[in-house]
Amino acid sequence: MQQIRNIVILTGAGISAESGIDTFRGGGGLWEQHRVEDVATPEAFARDPDLVLRFYDMRRAAIQEKQPNAAHTALARLEAEWPGNLLLVTQNVDDLHERGGSRRVLHMHGEHLNAWCTSCDIRSRWTGPLIDRPACPACAAPTLRPDVVWFGEMPYRMGEIYAALREADLFVSIGTSGAVYPAAGFVQNARELGARTLELNLERSQGSHWFHESRLGPATEVVPAWVDEMLGFA
Ligand SMILES: [Zn+2]
Repeated sequence: MQQIRNIVILTGAGISAESGIDTFRGGGGLWEQHRVEDVATPEAFARDPDLVLRFYDMRRAAIQEKQPNAAHTALARLEAEWPGNLLLVTQNVDDLHERGGSRRVLHMHGEHLNAWCTSCDIRSRWTGPLIDRPACPACAAPTLRPDVVWFGEMPYRMGEIYAALREADLFVSIGTSGAVYPAAGFVQNARELGARTLELNLERSQGSHWFHESRLGPATEVVPAWVDEMLGFA
């Protein structure tokens, strides 16, 4: 195997599933008879802001009851002990990587625990509800929305992600469906640029054939085992 120094890790819903975070994928993708795609769009927010804010208030409250699992803490250990560069990119909007000890996390789809003011464009840490239209801490306007990338909106910090993929010796995808672009294209991108590619997932993802290797199983088992191997303990 080639010398590995720079690692890019992409995580998705599968790493938080064992912490009890509902992805809605299993239950037909419905919430109170609404398709999740229909409450997670700018159009839905314009049409029925109360419905959208209620949905996100519920999600924001729920994630604060959950705890990081062995997969999250293993990645934090890898970050702390890996001698090269490591970038953790997550599609998840929960804060379980941070609470698991990771310090450098790029949230490409935003964060439940941030509110974004559409008047002054400032993002603020936010743990409570938004349904009552609280004042923005920066400008006092009652115009906060969830700082979550909705369907049809551009993911965050793509330039940084592609720059890291260009330098990557190893790209690892953990718990992603391989169905949501642009993240689903990262493996292809990394591989074309010469990186080794590894998938850790409960089952083969849609983009499985792009990976040099797939290790299948629960994230709380396959991720700590892989981290041990990377750090020379296995
Ligand atoms: Zn503001």
